[in-house]
Amino acid sequence: MASYPVVVIPGDGIGPEVTAAVQRILQAAGAPLEWHERQAGITALSAHGDVLPNETVELIRRLGVALKGPCTTPVGEGFTSVNVQLRKRLNLYAAVRPVRNLEGVPTRFDNVDLVIIRENTEGLYSGIENHVTDDAVMSMKVATQTACLRIARWAFRFATRRRWSKITVFHKANIMKLTDGLFLRCARRVHQEEYPNIDYQELIIDAGCMRLVQDPTKFQVLLLENLYGDVVSDLCAGLVGGLGVVPGANIGDEQAVFEAVHGSAPDIAGQGVANPLALLMSAVMMLNHLAEKAADAACRDTADRIKQAYNRALRDGAKTRDLGGDLSTDGFASAVISRLIAASGG
Ligand code: ATP
Repeated sequence: MASYPVVVIPGDGIGPEVTAAVQRILQAAGAPLEWHERQAGITALSAHGDVLPNETVELIRRLGVALKGPCTTPVGEGFTSVNVQLRKRLNLYAAVRPVRNLEGVPTRFDNVDLVIIRENTEGLYSGIENHVTDDAVMSMKVATQTACLRIARWAFRFATRRRWSKITVFHKANIMKLTDGLFLRCARRVHQEEYPNIDYQELIIDAGCMRLVQDPTKFQVLLLENLYGDVVSDLCAGLVGGLGVVPGANIGDEQAVFEAVHGSAPDIAGQGVANPLALLMSAVMMLNHLAEKAADAACRDTADRIKQAYNRALRDGAKTRDLGGDLSTDGFASAVISRLIAASGG
């Protein structure tokens, strides 16, 4: 059986706890992975003097795939977000975040099944901020035709391959006529010239958010620029049970880094109560990515078995605190592992 070398970055805050739990589950499932642990985040500062050591970036560049825990970003001061730096340095231009109801996790809406495609390299995340005068600071929103066309093509191709029939673009082109205007024009062009059979919709982001919380089942693929994608991801997480249950992938032409939508949650770090499910679901996405690239049916089967095991565990009421349960991070991992063993007849 093939074995895939994968970089693993535990990260900061709850990162090491949820990463260890996920690795334990993957090992129990016999996932064909060879781990190469590297550091990023505040954890990397003391060991390497850098929050994003070159060695970590270069190994991901070489191996092509990483599973990453969250890295803390200081608020209002300090270094640039490690997550953002990594996406930029590896040109991981498409963030893909599936948002689905889970059995056993009751929420206001049933049948939520949508995916967020977020442009990951520019917009207000370009990090170009200046002091203009003693009294004024400014932040620059950057949009390039190259990146806007690239993410639009990626989203339409993704929708077509996964048999989604509808794409909705959220924008604020009534106010940001140049930047969001360009984003919209690129999406329209790709729709009209390359994917006319996909149902295409544009919504001003404020109205879009209102419609999302009124009835998220009306949406399939959401295409957004960087900052809107960040904000709407958490909104959508709230529709299906919170940040503990939404996975993600950052994908470029050569590399892919799989990480949960949530951050390092310093408020609950070190307590052993974080939900490892979002990172586990990200790992399942990673196995499917590896399986697709290598046409490896056994790897896909492992991904399916893990998915069935966590669904089964949730249906049986095995939940961490964020979902109303009382299991610890490790307790939930053990619950998933026991379902894996039971399913294999062990
Ligand atoms: P960062 O600065 O790294 O973004 P944050 O605390 O600002 O961290 P999140 O980590 O996304 O942002 O957390 C937001 C809230 O959601 C926190 O109250 C946190 O406890 C909760 N949360 C996030 N992830 C999880 C998880 N995996 N399990 C349980 N609760 C979580």
